[in-house]
Amino acid sequence: MDTLIQCDNLIGGEWVVGEAGKQKIVSPHDGRELGTITLPSADQIQKALQHAQKAQKEWGQTPIKERSKIFYEFRNLLLQELEDIARVKSSESGKTLEEGKAGLLKGIEVLEFALSIQNLDLGGRVEVSRGVSCEYRRVPLGVVGNITPFNFPAMVPLWTIPIALVLGNSYVWKPSEKTPLTSKGIANALLRAGLPKGLLTVLHGGHETSNAIIDSPHVKAVGFVGSTKVAKMVYQRGTQLGKRVLALGGAKNHIVLLPDANPDLSGVGISDSFTGCAGQRCMAASVLLAVGDVEPHIQKILARASSLQLGKDMGALITKAQKDFLVEAIGRAEKAGAKVLLDGRKATAPAGKEKGNWLGPTILDHVASGSEAATVELFGPILSIIRCKDLTEALKIQNSSEYGNACSVFTSSGAFAERVSKEATAGMIGINVGVPVPREPFSFGGIQASKFGHGDITGEHSLDFWSDVRKVTMKWEKQNDSTWMS
Ligand code: NAD
Repeated sequence: MDTLIQCDNLIGGEWVVGEAGKQKIVSPHDGRELGTITLPSADQIQKALQHAQKAQKEWGQTPIKERSKIFYEFRNLLLQELEDIARVKSSESGKTLEEGKAGLLKGIEVLEFALSIQNLDLGGRVEVSRGVSCEYRRVPLGVVGNITPFNFPAMVPLWTIPIALVLGNSYVWKPSEKTPLTSKGIANALLRAGLPKGLLTVLHGGHETSNAIIDSPHVKAVGFVGSTKVAKMVYQRGTQLGKRVLALGGAKNHIVLLPDANPDLSGVGISDSFTGCAGQRCMAASVLLAVGDVEPHIQKILARASSLQLGKDMGALITKAQKDFLVEAIGRAEKAGAKVLLDGRKATAPAGKEKGNWLGPTILDHVASGSEAATVELFGPILSIIRCKDLTEALKIQNSSEYGNACSVFTSSGAFAERVSKEATAGMIGINVGVPVPREPFSFGGIQASKFGHGDITGEHSLDFWSDVRKVTMKWEKQNDSTWMS
């Protein structure tokens, strides 16, 4: 990526220079400038939302099969441009190129689910009484907003763009101001696929843009993915206005490791879970609940994590401030009594990338339950090991977490696996899987402080969020043998 990217705001189907200023975007890999976004003024945001509403009127009345056709072409274009989009995405988010591609492919999987909506049960009719029928129809909401985080600049938006649009809504997207450039490639592919103007709106900026979208009377529902603190704020702001809000928040994910686990499987699964995307994943392992004697397994985790090369196998952290926060958090854990088994602070930056935000994989052993390293979402490549005498103690610690995204167990016992899958307080459970992201059509979503609102953001459980169910009761003739229902 040598040429600088200018990413403006997509308003009424045109890229429009924002009148409220500019923001430079730099790469976490090496601090190099990647491009600029322009920020929309309050007036431009209002115009964008008016365009979005106008465009939805016809789109909402277009048959779903016709709407879906555009998304077959969108899928083809995303696959053709996979490498280019992934390159921008990894440069601005700090990911490796392979991680950039993987996130996009997971987004395409959700797009494929959206293509299947046209063949799912979207309505039905039953004669409920003599001469009386009830029918239900799935209808669009109108304009919907979605606010996305920095860590998956393509996958998280693609969780919702295809589903919300195929269901007949107009979609307003506010990308993260830390990783906004990816939005250009995605939006251009959708425009080239034939999406009518005004149905996809892209507005840059931070909380002011989010709030303008949430507050607009044109916007009927708001999706959000990001930290718990902001998820709660967005949920409260939207629901106070009587809107439908689904806000996914942060996480602190546990892995329960039992002595009967396969050491090779758990070594790779656990190491890759906490180091993948440099730990900046809401599904990353963060706490290892080590039950009994699991030394051989820990040695495997350690060997795998120690072998990773920064810049090749592992990416960078999003900002210098985040790196500094993590370095200080490791220091605080050490002071509190944790033993540093693997020290990412000592890792060296890849050659020529010394200005990047690099931190190597870090493993902290004998972390005290209740301490910062055991309970706070650090969002980096740090694994905190808590030693537990038995599964009951491990589950007690897991159950005390305020979050509830993921919990995995590594074991060869079906009975232990079943116990964890029943008793862990998490929306997504893994059995010998380190990153238990459900594949479509199984929907994505946590519980507790990892999600505010009902339903999930993808899969079949998302349909009720992105559409309404309208009930129609009808009678065409007077029935002589009428009942109370007639
Ligand atoms: P963030 O909460 O800082 O920002 C998310 C989005 O909210 C951005 O677009 C940002 O501009 C906007 N925003 C920030 N402050 C706001 C405010 N006061 N009002 C309205 N909007 C505001 O999150 P981040 O740092 O970009 O992303 C990392 C976080 O996201 C982590 O906590 C991670 O666990 C979480 N995450 C969760 C999931 C999930 O599925 N649960 C997925 C990915 C990331």
